[in-house]
Amino acid sequence: MADTSLPPASPAPEPLAPKPLAERIAVVTGASRGIGRAAALALAEAGAHVIAVARTQGALEELDDAVRAAGGSATLVPLDLRDYDAIDRLGGAIHERWGRLDILVGNAGVLGALMPLGHIDPKVWASVMDVNVTANWRLIRSLDPLLRRSEAGRAVFVTSGAASSCRAYWGPYAVSKAALEALVRTYAAETATTPVRTMLLNPGPLRTAMRKAAMPGEDPETLRTPEDLAPHIVRLASPDWTESGTIFDFPTGRVLTPQKPA
Ligand code: NAP
Repeated sequence: MADTSLPPASPAPEPLAPKPLAERIAVVTGASRGIGRAAALALAEAGAHVIAVARTQGALEELDDAVRAAGGSATLVPLDLRDYDAIDRLGGAIHERWGRLDILVGNAGVLGALMPLGHIDPKVWASVMDVNVTANWRLIRSLDPLLRRSEAGRAVFVTSGAASSCRAYWGPYAVSKAALEALVRTYAAETATTPVRTMLLNPGPLRTAMRKAAMPGEDPETLRTPEDLAPHIVRLASPDWTESGTIFDFPTGRVLTPQKPA
C-alpha cells in the first residue's frame, strides 16, 4: 500500500526580530568616512533609511554598497556643508519625499590648524567655524520643522573634549566645539516641550583620519574604533532615548550634565 502520510512539518521559522529603527528616516553628515560612516551603516543596519551627506562621492557610493549588503537603504547627498543654500534645499527635498525627519546626526567636522592663536590664517579659522558651527546651525534651521513632525525626533551632534580642555594650539577647533555645545544646548531648551530630544556626543579618541592628523605619533591600534561607538549612536537616535541637552561621554559611558550658572 502506498504511504500517503505527509512528511513531518518543518518547524515554523522564528519570526525575524523587528529592526529597532525600521521606517525611520535619518540624516548623517560626514558619512563618507570615520565616525559618520560607521554611524550611517549602523543606523541602516538598525532599519533606518539613511540620507548620507559628505563631499566625497566615491566614498558615499562605497557606503551605499555596504548599506545594501547589510540589507539597508540609503540616499546619497554629495554636498559641501558650507553651501548653506544646499542645506536649505536638503530640508525641502526631505519634506517633499517623507514629510518628516526622525534622526539627525550632525557629525561632520574639521580640525583646522594646530598652532598658536596668533599664527592662524583667518581663512582656516573661518572654515572651521563654517563646518563645525554654522553648518550645524543651518542644519537645525532647515531640519527642525521636520524633526518636530516626527513623533520622536532625535538629534545627535558630535562634540569633543577639546571644547572644555582648551589645550594650547587647538584654538579654532576648541572654540568651534564650545560654540557647538552652546548651540545644541540652546536647541535642547527650545525643544524641551516637544518630542524632539537632542544630545551631544563626545567620542573621545577614536581611530580615524582626523585623529591621525591631530596625533601623527600615536599608534592608531591603541584606539577604539568608530564601529565601537556606532551602537551608542543608534541608542541615542532611538525613540526610547529620553535625555536631552546633555553629553553622552563615550570614554566613560556616562551622561554628563553641563554646568549651569547658579
Ligand atoms: P574624519 O574621519 O576626518 O571625517 C570627517 C567627516 O566630515 C568626513 O566624512 C568628511 O567628508 C566630512 N566633512 C568635512 N568637511 C565637510 C564639508 N565641508 N562638507 C561636508 N562634509 C564634510 O573625522 P572623524 O574623526 O570621523 O570626526 C567626526 C566627528 O567627530 C567630527 O565632528 C570630530 O570633530 C569629532 N571627534 C572626533 C574624534 C576622534 O578621535 N576621531 C574625537 C573627538 C571628536 P568629506 O571629506 O567627504 O566631505
